[in-house]
Amino acid sequence: MAWIALEGMRFHAFHGVYEAEQILGGAYIVDVYVSTGIAAAAANDSLANTHVNYETVFQICLVEMAKPRKLLETIVTSIIRQLKHQFPSMKAVRVRVKKVNPPIFGRMQVSEKHPAIGGQAAAAWVEDEQDFVSRCPRCQRELLCYQDDTCWCNTLTTLHPATRETLTRQFGTTCLCNNCLKLYAG
Ligand SMILES: [Zn+2]
Ligand SMILES: [Zn+2]
Repeated sequence: MAWIALEGMRFHAFHGVYEAEQILGGAYIVDVYVSTGIAAAAANDSLANTHVNYETVFQICLVEMAKPRKLLETIVTSIIRQLKHQFPSMKAVRVRVKKVNPPIFGRMQVSEKHPAIGGQAAAAWVEDEQDFVSRCPRCQRELLCYQDDTCWCNTLTTLHPATRETLTRQFGTTCLCNNCLKLYAG
């Protein structure tokens, strides 16, 4: 699998549970890795022109980093959600949000003889990776499904609501490959 990456995006942001983090803020580094496939994009031909570009990836991260959150997990999840929304042809995505010099430190007396030792952490980070390659439940052809409302199949306006219900009942999803969906689209 080939990856496109935007690594080491730096932000000053106000995430965290401590008051100091929320008022003074801190340094964050964000890495985004996207895997796209020309074959997969071609399989959903309406998506043939959608490719990942760095400016948009950066803008998405900037917008999400500007919203103060308590947990790094929340930031990672919402960046992935926005990427899915923006780029309908990702085969997989990996996002890492790193807090530089997190407010973790301590001192401890090891023994009477030795002075106290101190410790701190250079960074704390959270990463999530999601894989979107699956198979059409009708013909077993490879396709991309985001498994939520950001998926391309939800944007097909030609699919009648009643047909959607039938497909969901029969296959458990409306996300069939383009060939199969054409049979159902009105
Ligand atoms: Zn199919
Ligand atoms: Zn889908």
